[in-house]
Amino acid sequence: MSNKKDTENEMVIEFDGRPSNEGFARVAVAAFCTQLNPTLEEVADIKTALSEAITNAIIHGYEGEVHKIRLECQIKGEAVHITVRDTGTGIADVEKAMQPMYTTKPEMDRSGMGFVFMEAFMDQVQVESAPGQGTAVHMKKIIGR
Ligand code: ATP
Ligand code: MG
Repeated sequence: MSNKKDTENEMVIEFDGRPSNEGFARVAVAAFCTQLNPTLEEVADIKTALSEAITNAIIHGYEGEVHKIRLECQIKGEAVHITVRDTGTGIADVEKAMQPMYTTKPEMDRSGMGFVFMEAFMDQVQVESAPGQGTAVHMKKIIGR
């Protein structure tokens, strides 16, 4: 059991960026994480953060067009690492985009709180993005603290 190989695991899925696939992605990640014996609260935190990242890819990254979202999930020791990638519009100023209440879609009733929730529910959130190339949101959560 203490073998390093047993404490590392990875899965990757790619799916159409449609709101109807959000539930599928949430359940897939939750199921993958069960090997860490998370609490219901930890699972709920991960699902919430994941939903925010996927919604952003769909509405901001792809702006209503349907393209692929790639979801990478790794378990390393006690931590789960999740990356949500789109190849959409990208973000010009990531620091600004991550500020509370900053949104580029106020007309769509967006409140600009997605990144704030991701940071609140996960232990680490890092965003890599380039205009015209897409966005990768990397999130990490330590399970069992
Ligand atoms: P809310 O999540 O509260 O509904 P929001 O989506 O605007 O509102 P955030 O999730 O915090 O707020 O995102 C802030 C801003 O960052 C967005 O308005 C958008 O401009 C930009 N953004 C976030 N994710 C992406 C992405 N995947 N591709 C392009 N732009 C993004
Ligand atoms: Mg959002």
